[in-house]
Amino acid sequence: MHGMMMNRPLRIADIITLAEKIHPNEEIISKTLQGTLHTTNYAEIALRSRQMSKALISLGVKMGDRIATLAWNGFRHLELYFAISGIGAICHTINPRLSSEQMTYVVNHAEDKLIFLDLTFIPIIEAHLDKFPSSTKYVLMAEKEHMPECKIPNVICYEDLIEKESSDFEWPEFDENTASGLCYTSGTTGNPKGVLYSHRSTVLHALIQCFYNAGSFSPKKKILPIVPLFHANAWGIPYSAPISGTSLVFPGANLDGKSVYDLLEKYSVNSAWGVPTVWMGLLEEISQRGGKKPDGLEEMLVGGSAAAKSLIEAFENMGVRVIHAWGMTETSPLGTSGRLISPFSELPVEEQRHLQTSQGRKIFMVDLKIVDDNGKRLPEDGNNIGNLYIRGNTIAGGYYNNEEASKAAIDDEGYFGTGDVASIDEQGFLRLTDRAKDLIKSGGEWISSIDLENRAMSHPDVENCAVIAIPHEKWDERPLLVVVPAEGKKPSKEELIKHLEGHFAKWQMPDDVVYEDELPLTATGKVSKLTLRQKYENYTLAS
Ligand code: ADP
Repeated sequence: MHGMMMNRPLRIADIITLAEKIHPNEEIISKTLQGTLHTTNYAEIALRSRQMSKALISLGVKMGDRIATLAWNGFRHLELYFAISGIGAICHTINPRLSSEQMTYVVNHAEDKLIFLDLTFIPIIEAHLDKFPSSTKYVLMAEKEHMPECKIPNVICYEDLIEKESSDFEWPEFDENTASGLCYTSGTTGNPKGVLYSHRSTVLHALIQCFYNAGSFSPKKKILPIVPLFHANAWGIPYSAPISGTSLVFPGANLDGKSVYDLLEKYSVNSAWGVPTVWMGLLEEISQRGGKKPDGLEEMLVGGSAAAKSLIEAFENMGVRVIHAWGMTETSPLGTSGRLISPFSELPVEEQRHLQTSQGRKIFMVDLKIVDDNGKRLPEDGNNIGNLYIRGNTIAGGYYNNEEASKAAIDDEGYFGTGDVASIDEQGFLRLTDRAKDLIKSGGEWISSIDLENRAMSHPDVENCAVIAIPHEKWDERPLLVVVPAEGKKPSKEELIKHLEGHFAKWQMPDDVVYEDELPLTATGKVSKLTLRQKYENYTLAS
């Protein structure tokens, strides 16, 4: 027997309509490309999103069309999130840091009808005009007075589109499984793969995010998303913030420590979200300002790659709660929650810090499992390490127009293979060992680069580091520690090895240490181990 409750479609448009009614005056502040600060609110965002929806229809956009954005975090990008999906079209957020080859691939694969771009990215488009579909049209996200001369043919002005339309428009109703967003993985190997979100998955994810990160979301609170709107939906902030009435402060193109610090301080931002490399930049800025954290900063969400214990401690010691979470483009992206709740939040500080270095715990509606190489489930005892699989309403069930990759991604039980290697303990804490492709296999045993990095980072003279696999005749692979020394310091190899000793078995210790001025980053701002491995491919280990 079925229940007798109504079955209304979950729609993204309802999120911004709610914010317009219930949280109209909560502010959205954006750093513009001209360096000024622009302030708007949810009422205006909703109104302009409706105008933009009408403009899209006037331009011939239909349900299912892919409409791309190539843009920083700012109010217009937020409007497009609602304007595009509101009419059943698909918002394809392009990562501007993709290589030329990858960008050409994604735009052609998505067959983008329109590309909305920030002024910064005009040169990228100009360089690809003959590589992108000839039917693609371009819209510059700018006011009339900032429209520059450029080689893009028939380029349209964003504010012109808005100005021509009234806001007298109601978003249509359609099936909640209608596609709403498209985000390609950065594809360090092979072509990028498109994750196609739906209205249903997006609304459910927004609710899950509001629940597990309730500390960040409420009226009068402000979030600064450093995580880009082009990276996995900026971790769901564009949806969870309007539902909860949380204000947003968008950093635009300025993501360096000083700019981020100034914005956090100026607006007394409560919570900031981003990958570890960004927080290391902020930490340096804080130390240059005598160790004073930005006023108002209460918590920080860290994800995308492992947050080192030293980073967690540095912020916690300043009174900033650090929430370490794990996820992927394919998981919307929240996969686990790192917010320590009772009874763990009452543990002695050192035990809490240890738990914070884990990737968090299982969340509602998302199932996790670890399996061996034959697909057999492994016990969740904190010791067994296996391939991590995930299942749920907010998890990709395949890739857009890519049958081969879709087939390879899902196992017999309908779980998605993450490509991560991890353990899960009795209490549901997930602890990542590595990405499968970053694992170091020495003499048939795995060595966790994350564990080694965590310890090395706790050395005061180490600013950043990475542990990578170096090919080895006898052991297949051996670990190499790549260190970026703190300014004016150069810890010796002996000193660093001594610092690691006692924390690892002898066979897990790095064979050698090399020094770099900085570490290469991926398109999503993470340390690129692939680039490092290529660089040190022929390195001869000292021992
Ligand atoms: P990209 O592939 O471009 O880095 P994703 O954000 O989809 O984009 O990457 C997801 C991967 O990032 C995960 O599979 C995992 O390897 C890594 N990751 C995400 N969060 C964490 C975390 N908290 N700790 C360690 N690794 C993480």
